[in-house]
Amino acid sequence: MNANVSDDRAVDGRAVDLTGRAGMDALLAPKSVAVIGASRDASGLGRRVFDSLLAGGFQGEVYAVNAAGGQIAGRPALARIADLPRGVDLAVIAVPRDRVLAAVDEAIAAGVRALLVITAGFAESGAEGRDLQNTLVARVRAAGIRMVGPNCLGLINTAVALNASFSPVFPPAGRVALSSQSGALGLTILALAKERGLGLSTFVSVGNKADVSSNDLLEYWASDPETDVITLYLESFGNPRKFADIARTRGRRKPIIAVKSGRTRAGGRAASSHTAALAATDTVVDALFEASGVIRADTIDEMFDIAACLSLQPLPEGRRVAIVTNAGGPGILAVDACERAGLSVSEFSTETRAALAAFLPAAASVGNPVDMVASAGEDAYCRAITVALGAAETDALIVIYTPVDPAHSAAVVNGITRGIASARSAGCRKPVLACLQTDGLRATPLTVNQERIPAFTFPENAARALSKAAAYAEWRRAPLESPVRCDDVLMEQTARLCRQIVAARGTTWLTNEELQEVLGSYGILFTAPVLVTDADSAALRAAEIGFPVVGKLASKAIVHKTDVDGVRVDLRTGADVCAAFTELAAAAADRQLPCDGMWLQPMIGGCVELMVGVAHDALFGPVIGFGRGGTAVETERDVHFRLVPITGQDADALIHETRAWPQLQGFRGRPAADIAALRDLLQRVAQLAADVPEILEMDLNPVIALPAGHRYAVVDARIRVGAV
Ligand code: ADP
Ligand code: MG
Repeated sequence: MNANVSDDRAVDGRAVDLTGRAGMDALLAPKSVAVIGASRDASGLGRRVFDSLLAGGFQGEVYAVNAAGGQIAGRPALARIADLPRGVDLAVIAVPRDRVLAAVDEAIAAGVRALLVITAGFAESGAEGRDLQNTLVARVRAAGIRMVGPNCLGLINTAVALNASFSPVFPPAGRVALSSQSGALGLTILALAKERGLGLSTFVSVGNKADVSSNDLLEYWASDPETDVITLYLESFGNPRKFADIARTRGRRKPIIAVKSGRTRAGGRAASSHTAALAATDTVVDALFEASGVIRADTIDEMFDIAACLSLQPLPEGRRVAIVTNAGGPGILAVDACERAGLSVSEFSTETRAALAAFLPAAASVGNPVDMVASAGEDAYCRAITVALGAAETDALIVIYTPVDPAHSAAVVNGITRGIASARSAGCRKPVLACLQTDGLRATPLTVNQERIPAFTFPENAARALSKAAAYAEWRRAPLESPVRCDDVLMEQTARLCRQIVAARGTTWLTNEELQEVLGSYGILFTAPVLVTDADSAALRAAEIGFPVVGKLASKAIVHKTDVDGVRVDLRTGADVCAAFTELAAAAADRQLPCDGMWLQPMIGGCVELMVGVAHDALFGPVIGFGRGGTAVETERDVHFRLVPITGQDADALIHETRAWPQLQGFRGRPAADIAALRDLLQRVAQLAADVPEILEMDLNPVIALPAGHRYAVVDARIRVGAV
């Protein structure tokens, strides 16, 4: 840090490092704020920020700087930045773009400790703006301070009643931190938070993220005593691997919920392997979130549902949900939604049913869901909730109220709060979510003593939020593992081979021999095919291999053999093999494809075809994909991804995520697959991809799963290497 500047910002004569925590504090929890460019015109952005500051009731010092001096919003304005007292915490820069650099320089000279640049027209607006932004960042870095923006809406900290933004909405105070990459959407998000009564600790519109990034905010909020839950609206990642690392560790203490826009990306990339075609950036984002414990929400609304659940209620210890309702329809909706979301609404024990039957009318259903029928009043709700929360067989409660006579609503809500209070005083720590279909209560939390119960408009919303909370709790309970390395691999030799191939041939597919060497060096079990070039030798070789065999067209011009009718399976005799040879040669000739002969392989009888692949994402680097294999993987879309290298947990999760999982466990009398061998395969492929970045694409498809003890067989493999 520049010595002169640090002296300016010294506290009690001691220099402070404003690039670290102290600088982030000056930014997000300032004691004094100057708005540079606060105009007399009430519609100017600087003026709107200044008005927000005053309206929000910020307790610290506030200064308006305006070249014309005079009065702004009834307060005396300073004509020059240099007139500011030394060491103001936060300077908000809202001057026209061409004056931003000068204003920043002067603010730095005046010893400000952090910057918030609202002004737009930087990297988002082309090359010239990008250059200007680079200069701006260089100045800020040289001064050793932090900056939010440029091109942003501002920031809010409810703990110090700070609204340094041009949002007229000041959200309620609470324990959810929120960052938005879109300023415009930020306005809507704040309005929604207010409407829903979702309490925020800090809101930051990060704009172009030229200096302070979402990663910095994650770090800050992880140790912010005002924040319990972190929510992010992301449009892009600056450094996704760093994000994953931070999220993985920080997410252990505080849940991180993210909406990443761009879920459906128009147009795919040019890819010839199945894996690369499936590894659209969005799928990889899912993988990144999954592996680092980040809860992904589809919409802002869902993000708020989950945030309300996690910030107001304890984490569920399991997935068993009790439902208490006074109407059948919403009860059924809730059950369906719970089960769709992976929660279970299982039957109550005899004791629980008896406890409910003791006070509910005969028409009521004392199973789960507890349908207390329309006449249920204050007392029924209170007692049913107490019983449901007290039952050993439940982990969470969704309570639904559909008013039959709105005149009773207040009493019922009272019964609900009394029921929860009594369970709490008996030591119950299970989460409770409410669905109150009454006007005025819809989606605004209920208060029970010091506690708030999140309320949802529909049972589906409650079920989805609860299931995400349960999944997060499971992730948090599992130990944090590091990637495993198999040490019986020939890393250097393989990396050298691939580099040599790239040097000699450029971007290219590996030959059959090269495939055998690379996969063999990593202990991956590849059933290498044998090339035959005439029908008679084909029959002889097949007999040596042992029937039945598979014949595949050998042609350098094709990638997927099935696309050109180039695979013949279950050839049982020499005659079958001869016929297959002739047919494949004819199929090639029909399509004017060069034919090098036929590949022969033993026919592997297994039950489930899987695929393991590698793709290279421009931003995320190498990723591994796993799922059901065969020739229709693009349409089945059952491939899940992880960034490499992977942990044992990642391998297990990939195996559980595929829709083939029930089959792998054994079904209809078939034996279970060798799961341990599949796990080992995933580890080895991930390690190969991590060790040899020249591998741009890989498809092992199919990998035929074999019964326990028999491992698996890779019967078709392709790897494309290239310069990185
Ligand atoms: P491609 O993917 O190039 O079309 P494959 O070699 O993957 O060709 O073969 C296509 C399909 O043929 C596989 O999905 C599998 O169902 C079957 N198959 C291929 N080789 C074998 C084998 N050795 N044993 C059993 N089935 C096989
Ligand atoms: Mg294949």
